[in-house]
Amino acid sequence: MIIGLINFFIVLLGRALRFAHNELLRVLLCFNLSVNSIYHNAFSAFFKIIKFSCHIVPFASFTLILSLAFFSLHSQYLDSLDIIKKARFHIDTLCSNTFKGRGYINNGHVLAAEYIKNQFTSYGLNPICSTGMTQNFEFPLNLIQDAELIINQQKLIPSKDFLPAPHTPPVEMKNFTPKYIGLGSPENWKKVSKGLHKQWVIIEDGMPNDIPENLKDSLKKWYSTENQIKQAKMYDASGLIIKQKKLTHSFSAEPIGLPVLFIQENLKIKKIDSYKVKTRTGNQFSQNIIAFQRGIVDSTIVVCGHYDHLGSIAETVFKGANDNASGIAFLLVLAEQLAKIQTKYNILWIAFGAEETGLNGSLHYVMKNPCIPLEKVKFVFNFDLLGHGQDGVMAVGSKTYPDLFQIVTFTNEALGKPIAFSERPNAPNSDHYPFTLKNIPALFFYTMGGPKHYHDYLDLPEGLELTAFVSMQKIFLKILE
Ligand SMILES: [Zn+2]
Repeated sequence: MIIGLINFFIVLLGRALRFAHNELLRVLLCFNLSVNSIYHNAFSAFFKIIKFSCHIVPFASFTLILSLAFFSLHSQYLDSLDIIKKARFHIDTLCSNTFKGRGYINNGHVLAAEYIKNQFTSYGLNPICSTGMTQNFEFPLNLIQDAELIINQQKLIPSKDFLPAPHTPPVEMKNFTPKYIGLGSPENWKKVSKGLHKQWVIIEDGMPNDIPENLKDSLKKWYSTENQIKQAKMYDASGLIIKQKKLTHSFSAEPIGLPVLFIQENLKIKKIDSYKVKTRTGNQFSQNIIAFQRGIVDSTIVVCGHYDHLGSIAETVFKGANDNASGIAFLLVLAEQLAKIQTKYNILWIAFGAEETGLNGSLHYVMKNPCIPLEKVKFVFNFDLLGHGQDGVMAVGSKTYPDLFQIVTFTNEALGKPIAFSERPNAPNSDHYPFTLKNIPALFFYTMGGPKHYHDYLDLPEGLELTAFVSMQKIFLKILE
């Protein structure tokens, strides 16, 4: 009973203070007065006293947790169902055929960028860059514009049956019989070396099953695609076909001198009726979409994710639902809610372009054209692959930036530990990385579990379970508010 009364009193007091705080800020901002740190310090001092009292009064911490729970139940934020509804809407939109896999065919990337820009604008966010919300940049790309493989008079499907390697030059071949050599072992290459004479070669991916465990590491390099291409060139083959269990698409900046074609391992190939690849080599343009929200303190948190994906080849569209329509949906839902309140710090929302081509968008922003001084960036949160979470969430960089990660784990614990985070050191595997090159602490979050459709045509919206999505929203709303 007494605890209940104390709880009720603290809740009332907290709400009144919060209301007064927001109103005062509004008035100050209306009169264009700078919100000085004295006021802000006084406000945070109040919470410090509450925190301190938790150590003295044993029941107070319990009461405070109850109060926080009460706050979150009655906050201005979306409820779980609305969060999922909005997320699904953004994911379905970004994965629709109009956006063509958010790549460089039919300007899919431009349309996706426009969609995000319109969303940011509708939330009341502002541009901060001299060029508005859109920041353009260029990068070298060997773009596969079209591909067609016909075997036994049957047109095969890109990504399902075959994939031109990203660095392939253009190809136009008819009625040819490639030479099958089995695994790309040194002996197998030697066997065919004399009889190749500008022929195409088919090899099986991987290494023999009977290689002893202790030799596997040293032989990995020999059986790598890179070395197999080298062997094919050395033995004067005119093209290389590699049979693979899973076909994974990616990009390359430049073509190499040899056409390389990946095919599904179960496909029986003797004669090829026709194989065509159309490419475009040179500079490709794209854009970052950047929006700003002013906080009380003039220090900025960057919240980012990439919107681009692999585009399309012929009729196959790489939808990229998990990678990374899910991360952009996460950014948009978060931004829509936070735009309604006065946050403590500035938030710089960045939807990066051209991540899949080698972090081109984030490298351009950080190295060439940061719209606010990098010294003013406190830290970075990057979200890429947010569609699952059945096996928890990986925090890349948590082992490199433990202090920053502590903010996340502390908030996770305060909310009842809904997410099982795993830890990894920093790595150059997404758009947070360029910031860390400038000594800005950054964490990259990706969800784990669920079907593995990384960079293939089956990364579809209907395959996403969004298991960690709502809890991740709640954690980051709390951190960023
Ligand atoms: Zn990604």
